[in-house]
Amino acid sequence: MYNKFMKCNICDNKGNKSINREKDRYIELSGKYVHCDCYEHHLTNKKKGALTEDEAKQKVDSLYRQQKRELDSKTKDLKSKDEFIKYVMAYYDTELSNYYLIKLQRIHSAALQGQCRPIPYCDMLEMYKNPKVRKLLERNRKKNNVTKQPYHYDLTVLIFEYDNYRKAKEERMLRREQNEENRRIMEEYARKTPKQVIEKPRKESIDVDQLVKDIFGD
Ligand SMILES: [Zn+2]
Repeated sequence: MYNKFMKCNICDNKGNKSINREKDRYIELSGKYVHCDCYEHHLTNKKKGALTEDEAKQKVDSLYRQQKRELDSKTKDLKSKDEFIKYVMAYYDTELSNYYLIKLQRIHSAALQGQCRPIPYCDMLEMYKNPKVRKLLERNRKKNNVTKQPYHYDLTVLIFEYDNYRKAKEERMLRREQNEENRRIMEEYARKTPKQVIEKPRKESIDVDQLVKDIFGD
């Protein structure tokens, strides 16, 4: 069950719950929750090894940011799970068996035999949406004459393909980072190099009035 309020292990007495999960900045410390402000105050007022205000702020900020990042990626992955299941159901136009859902869970936490790393739902979804992977799935199904519950068969192929897929993805990201870095260097270079001033040949301006005067006199 989702509780909007939680106990702060520093400022709350028994029965009080003053952390508002939707509004307050809080962190988890060994399974217990505390307001960031309370923890900062605690760190600067410890009898032994108290931190300065800046040190405490830095420490709490870094813990907060790290935990928030982890929470965000968990939330994102859970959303991807729903999306993945809907996608697979639409792709094969079928209901999914409980056995399949359990298998999915196990793949997600790397619990299948011979599986060396967990596969996040967002990666599974990404693979399914990739035209190359879809072609591979279709080819394999045809080759092995799979007609019954093809989604089981395809899931196994996905697990086998995951390492290759991950490597290709990492290489792509690395290339993108390198391109970005190159672009940044080029921009920096262009900014530092003084622009050459190209002097345009000066046009002799003709003073028409003067010309008229010269020819015809005043
Ligand atoms: Zn508190």
